[in-house]
Amino acid sequence: SKYSKEEIVKKVKELELEFIHLQFTDILGVMKNISITIEQLEKALNNEIMFDGSSIDGFVRIEESDMYLRPDLSTFVVFPWTSPTREARMICDVYKADGTPFGGCPRNTLKKVLKEAKDMGYIMNVGPECEFFMFHTNERGEPSLETHDNAGYFDLAPVDLGGNARKDMTITLKQMGFEIEASHHEVAPGQHEIDFKYEDALTTADNIMTFKMVVRIIAQRHGLHATFMPKPKFGINGSGMHINMSLATIDGKNAFYDENDPMQLSKEAYHYLGGTIKHAKSFAALTNPTINSYKRLVPGYEAPVLIAWSASNRSPLVRIPAKRGNSTRIELRNPDPSANPYLALAAVLKAGLDGIKNEIEPPAPVLSNVYHMNEDEKKEKGIESLPANLYEAISELSKDEVIKEAIGKHIYKKFRDAALYEWNEYSKFVSQWELDRYLRKF
Ligand code: GLU
Ligand code: MG
Ligand code: MG
Repeated sequence: SKYSKEEIVKKVKELELEFIHLQFTDILGVMKNISITIEQLEKALNNEIMFDGSSIDGFVRIEESDMYLRPDLSTFVVFPWTSPTREARMICDVYKADGTPFGGCPRNTLKKVLKEAKDMGYIMNVGPECEFFMFHTNERGEPSLETHDNAGYFDLAPVDLGGNARKDMTITLKQMGFEIEASHHEVAPGQHEIDFKYEDALTTADNIMTFKMVVRIIAQRHGLHATFMPKPKFGINGSGMHINMSLATIDGKNAFYDENDPMQLSKEAYHYLGGTIKHAKSFAALTNPTINSYKRLVPGYEAPVLIAWSASNRSPLVRIPAKRGNSTRIELRNPDPSANPYLALAAVLKAGLDGIKNEIEPPAPVLSNVYHMNEDEKKEKGIESLPANLYEAISELSKDEVIKEAIGKHIYKKFRDAALYEWNEYSKFVSQWELDRYLRKF
């Protein structure tokens, strides 16, 4: 770990911190927070902070609800925006009263799959590309769908409210130790992307949670509402969270690179890709967990629909970016930022590992834009589509023992029930689309 207990105590005193936030993530990907004063710091560092698990969505029943937080000391970071009070946070794992890891804690779940990778000789590295929208708020601070600009990809708008907010986000993230690689306006009005450097999968999942928190807070300070909803507006691009993945061997070499292969990809890379393609339909429930996620996965908006891969084209599920050597990686394009990053990474890593274990060969790459491939062509080439909606995604997940094992029984059941509840609520709703379509016709 980056810090010892003693170092943290010393830092907290030196910096005169007043509050420490103990953070963890629930099954649906929402960050939870228990704030303590520095008088309780000692207790927290000894893993003695308890909370009532039955009050957290999808955690446990009342009878077995005593849960303990174990702060990961390496995640200690001071919040740069909280003056005059001074505050810091640590990300925690959730443990049961008997001292064993709680199966409903997504961070524990990811760690379990990472351990499996490590036992096979690999460390998973992940670089995410998080996209989001910023919208105006009204007098009462409620979000609208109005944007602050009409800029497009990489544009610099004259009065760029969003650009200023984004700059501020970048500065704040840097102060918190993020290495920002790129920050730009995305294709749609009001849409932005900030990319940070790849790290091991656990650090990246933590970073994604921190990132989303920072983006929301800083947007608010600029009078804007930032949203990670995948498709807030019909007719323009949605927000994705592309996942760039690679495996490193224990001695630090990129396991996906092989200079002797025609595409300079290793056997592991092809098999990992094979596993990714094979399990894509069932991990979609985790990488695209909301009703709204599936409104993004439609042709024409740079988001994937077909389960195929390509070396260059951006329309299929997987793209292999041109960089080789240590930068050799696989870009998975269906995940969106509404995903719980711990569960999404656990699921996609498990799919890839299954490919390596069982030497699953990927299909041939597609060479062109696949948005306009018709049903006959798809059949002929054996190409399938991602699930069309959350219900289909949950049905696919329910049939895939490999991905279910990745997330564990507890999380699978709670996740499935929450998704089906969501689907039932949505299905009953009568939308404007239907009224426009049918009110006069029938
Ligand atoms: N916004 C697109 C998506 O929904 C991605 C655009 C890009 O290639 O960065 O995935
Ligand atoms: Mg992008
Ligand atoms: Mg990308």
